[in-house]
Amino acid sequence: MITKIITTSVFSLFTLALLAQDIDSNHFRFVERILEKSMTDNQSYDKLSYLCTEIGPRLSGSQQAALAVDFTEKWMEEIGCNRVFRQEVMVPNWKRGEKERAYIIINNDSTPMSITALGMSVATPEKGLKAEIIEVQNFEQLKALGKEKVKGKIVFYNRPMNPVHVSTFAAYGGSVDQRWAGASEAAKLGAVGTLVRSMTLKNDDNPHTGVMGYEKDVQKIPAAAISTQAAEMLHRQLIQNPNLTVWFNQSCATHDDTLSHNVVGEFTGSVHPEKYIVVGGHLDSWDLGQGAHDDGAGCIQSIEALRILKSLGYTPRHTLRAVMFMNEENGLRGGRKYAEQAKLLGEHHLAAIESDRGGFSPRGFDIEANQQMLLFAKSLAPYLAPLGIYSIKEGGSGADIGPLRNDTILLAGLVPDSQRYFDYHHAQTDRIEAVNERELQMGAATMAAFIYLIDQLIP
Ligand SMILES: [Zn+2]
Repeated sequence: MITKIITTSVFSLFTLALLAQDIDSNHFRFVERILEKSMTDNQSYDKLSYLCTEIGPRLSGSQQAALAVDFTEKWMEEIGCNRVFRQEVMVPNWKRGEKERAYIIINNDSTPMSITALGMSVATPEKGLKAEIIEVQNFEQLKALGKEKVKGKIVFYNRPMNPVHVSTFAAYGGSVDQRWAGASEAAKLGAVGTLVRSMTLKNDDNPHTGVMGYEKDVQKIPAAAISTQAAEMLHRQLIQNPNLTVWFNQSCATHDDTLSHNVVGEFTGSVHPEKYIVVGGHLDSWDLGQGAHDDGAGCIQSIEALRILKSLGYTPRHTLRAVMFMNEENGLRGGRKYAEQAKLLGEHHLAAIESDRGGFSPRGFDIEANQQMLLFAKSLAPYLAPLGIYSIKEGGSGADIGPLRNDTILLAGLVPDSQRYFDYHHAQTDRIEAVNERELQMGAATMAAFIYLIDQLIP
């Protein structure tokens, strides 16, 4: 049987590696050791606490983002990386300005709404923007209303995330077009501003920000998100008073691009130092909370994964890298820069793994790769089962590692339980208190085990 397999070209190397697994229980034992080490001697929670409370939110171009670069660089040096370096990257510099305000106005009555400007939006006029409001669920409805009904008004997008999806990321994906493209779609019909229902399944009064984009050559109008409770209230009021007006005020602005950095730390490979396995997250975060789940957790887990392997005395075969990507939230400049540099230097990347879905209990990995690599990734499942991993399947990996995509690389995204992620995502509630120490550490252990297996089993 083996001779037959060997004749099947490139496949043979992997197949042999797979066969090797069947008879090698060392890998099972090493994954056990990773778990044991991780749960008894760890640094994730302390480091994430520092990042969240001593440094705070880390919007691209902010002083905190620069402090986070220093902090993670120093930690990479402390854990004994053979090489730690920065990559210069110019990032957008959007600032929120004063706290936003919004009111529903009926006759002489005004009712406040919880509101936040969307990232990269323009400001309202200095004295605020007041106009009649019109509610829609989607762009089709908006277009059906036409210029006549939309001109001069504020468009209110109120399609909730669909609760039917077990993966809340699927629900997010089904609604986020309203946030991203809503302003330009409305402006094409003459609208003067937009409000969008916050991208969360939770019914509370916290507005969730997030990036939006303007279409070229379309009037830039101010765009903001209101809390789900405010959206429900506005919806009810509109039924009773279809002509009510809303006033809102925001003073955000986009300044000149600013110099920032990706941070990279590596352990040099002993067999193939010229081949790389990357593990990473994004260091920047929105400014409302502390960027605890998004994505302080993923950054800390990535460095912690390397630290665990190092503290077990592991000698990697390939070069292992932790990468702190800058500017995922409003530009992806860090992810693009990293891939650009890798190409320029001819660095061969075998695999890249991103953690950017919160510090919750890990459940699996979503894989972007060719069929052979997908099969290989799936074959690792038995080793990861003791960590509670049950799902290794095809799916989107991570925004920052996306630019590394090619015909051969294995891209993977850590998939934790997603039920609570959007309670906190881009809101002021994304704070260290929302992170469970054990769940966070399990994510780090899972990433360590995954890169260990890739390092061992890819020839
Ligand atoms: Zn993120």
